Amino acid sequence: MSASFLLEQIGMPKDPLSENKILRHRLDEFIVEARKNERKMRRFQSLELKLIGLSSVKDLIETVLAPDYATFRWDEVTLLLLDPEYEIQRALEDESVELSSMPHLMFSSSNDDLNAYYQMSLFPTLGAYRARQHATLFPARRRTPRSVALLPLVRQGKLIGSLNVGSYSAERFERGVRTDFFCLENAVNIERLKRQGLTDTLTAINNRRFFDQRLKEEVGLAKRNKRLLSCLLLDVDLFKKVNDSYGHQVGDLVLRDVAALIRAQMRGSDVLSRYGGEEFSALLSQAGEEEALEVAERIRESIEQHLFSVDGHADFSVTISIGVTTFNPAQNGEAAMGVPGEYLVGQADKALYEAKANGRNRVESSGVLVIT
Ligand code: GH3
Ligand code: MG
Ligand code: MG
Repeated sequence: MSASFLLEQIGMPKDPLSENKILRHRLDEFIVEARKNERKMRRFQSLELKLIGLSSVKDLIETVLAPDYATFRWDEVTLLLLDPEYEIQRALEDESVELSSMPHLMFSSSNDDLNAYYQMSLFPTLGAYRARQHATLFPARRRTPRSVALLPLVRQGKLIGSLNVGSYSAERFERGVRTDFFCLENAVNIERLKRQGLTDTLTAINNRRFFDQRLKEEVGLAKRNKRLLSCLLLDVDLFKKVNDSYGHQVGDLVLRDVAALIRAQMRGSDVLSRYGGEEFSALLSQAGEEEALEVAERIRESIEQHLFSVDGHADFSVTISIGVTTFNPAQNGEAAMGVPGEYLVGQADKALYEAKANGRNRVESSGVLVIT
């Protein structure tokens, strides 16, 4: 195949001088592109070596920084990665990850900084939260954790990162309880598999199926241990109007944010699910009526105060109505032992109906269940 035939094929003039110039220009462009790709590939190969077992850095981050840690009772999670040459940060940019939108992801440019957290051991460290030691590991925390677990990411005997988990409970991570990071990582994966089908894809919180399973378990636990259990049903007010005014897609985004706002007011160990449509349900274990009402009121207020922004529209807000009910297995003697979970939900639903009838954007309680 002749060069001029090739040039003809790609639409180039046959005059040798301009041919030459254009060809050179194209070649330069190709070389720049090839060098860029080569750099990209090298970066990836070195990363693959470091973070073995995960197909990409994005995977790692999505695995460990997933939003719902209810099952593990992890309230705050951050990831600190050693990245002295900015390789990881560049690779993430190549994968179009917006780093500024991930305050839970941090990078350390020196080995010493990272090692200081572990004092040369490569085992997880668990214990009380100490501001001097841990504040920088939880920069965007919602609340200050009371106990923390630092889980080392080790590669060929060297520390390459740290997964930092904080709990609002002081007892959650006690010194001396040793856990291997890889066990935890496996647990995360197994848990993810188990939870497929139990998570709502729009809001990333659990779905109705998960709620129904947990309702049985939580009611059983409450009865066995004679512990209080409160149930909340939450329904977005006049949500049809949001869809009518801004369209379904905006409605979906509002639901996603509402779910996150509700979650933010609950303990990590509480159960929250999308019950259906624009309705959510929650179980607060060991919470009496007063505490449940407090939580519900905090949720109601945080949603009322939140401003939703949509391009081309003025900011708007939505409100939510909440029905609360509390089960006290220590009351009503033997009769309490026969109460099914559905009864709690039914009572919370009645309270929710009251909240709607009394003008919406309200919390109503059915009180502590009286079983006859
Ligand atoms: P109320 O205060 O009485 O609860 O009024 P409402 O408009 O919220 O109640 P209604 O039950 O009449 O309407 C609920 C609306 O929620 C209707 C439905 O189209 C909408 N909806 C349910 N699920 C979704 C969803 O996943 N995405 C969107 N965008 N809308 C949803
Ligand atoms: Mg509804
Ligand atoms: Mg509604």
